[in-house]
Amino acid sequence: MGELQRCQGAGCTKEAKLQCPTCLKQKISGSFFCSQACFKENWSTHKMVHQPTPVVEKTYIPKFPYTGTLRALYPLSPRRQVPPHIERPDYADHPQGISKSEKTAKANTSIKVLNKEEIEEMRTVCKLAREVLDIGAATIKPGVTTDEIDRVIHEAIVERNSYPSPLNYYEFPKSICTSVNEVICHGIPDRRELEEGDIINLDVSLYHKGFHADLNETYPVGTIDEESIKLIRTAKDCLDKAIECVRPGFLYRDLGAVIEKNAKANNCSVVRTYCGHGIHRLFHCAPNVPHYAKNKAVGTMKPGHCFTIEPMINLGTWHDRHWPDNWTAVTEDGKRSAQFEHTLLVTETGVEILTAGKNERQFVPDPNTKSSNTEFKNL
Ligand SMILES: [Zn+2]
Ligand SMILES: [Zn+2]
Repeated sequence: MGELQRCQGAGCTKEAKLQCPTCLKQKISGSFFCSQACFKENWSTHKMVHQPTPVVEKTYIPKFPYTGTLRALYPLSPRRQVPPHIERPDYADHPQGISKSEKTAKANTSIKVLNKEEIEEMRTVCKLAREVLDIGAATIKPGVTTDEIDRVIHEAIVERNSYPSPLNYYEFPKSICTSVNEVICHGIPDRRELEEGDIINLDVSLYHKGFHADLNETYPVGTIDEESIKLIRTAKDCLDKAIECVRPGFLYRDLGAVIEKNAKANNCSVVRTYCGHGIHRLFHCAPNVPHYAKNKAVGTMKPGHCFTIEPMINLGTWHDRHWPDNWTAVTEDGKRSAQFEHTLLVTETGVEILTAGKNERQFVPDPNTKSSNTEFKNL
């Protein structure tokens, strides 16, 4: 037998026979601990010696109490690359995907008023994001994997000289979120094939010339049941009704009542854990925009504010759970959830839907007034 090993725990000199399983797997020698307790206590510093484990190696956890019928299908495909000439947000190369600029901004709850040039940049990036979402949506059909949709969207983003905002954001491993059936949000594209009757939300966000855009929509896969049709329609109506409120002077906290009223009228519930958010040079910032009634959100809308509304609407309970991937949020009862999101600009007279689609109601600038003035036009 080899020589006597000493515990690696800080300040511990005891004899040690336990070896760190990760070190064993990665063939890192000398990582002995005297006890499980000492190992645990020193974990945060010890784990630095480990090779970063690519998410690719994670495997499906059969014992996890999934709330519905959907399962993760690992391994994930290798991380997609963004060419070096494309401008990257600050978290893109941080080892834990932390955004220092967002952290700094958090101390300050005031909402940024964008100037004319910044508004133009937001219009540009949001138009790109809409194009990309439509390209992704066109690939949806039974048999297509969510990873394939991620590939198509990643490439469409890169072609537009943009960075896919989710990629490495707090270590999110992919370029979009794909949320199927009972997944509320933040689903990770994997090897699962879409099935006839599924519903899927594609959440696209991208970063271009220093600005982020963010939008999402929920789509049917082939023919879906009546309940799912109602759910999708309700989620879209919730977003539309909230957008109708947007104008200078409206309180951010009052959007939730409008959304929840419409959800309840359709026997649906509103997710409380995830909210809309400010968006411009930062991916997520003030204001916080809850979608449920009687919330305490801070702030009054002013011309030049940019933010998202993105209600997540459930057929059953509003309570959520998380998969062990630390991202995928699912409904606690396994019933379906749907969501729609737009990036919005508060104008002098109302709102401009920066991420509007061709076939939905749009706000078109009136050529007879100042460029910041827009009017409602039903297309
Ligand atoms: Zn989004
Ligand atoms: Zn968002």
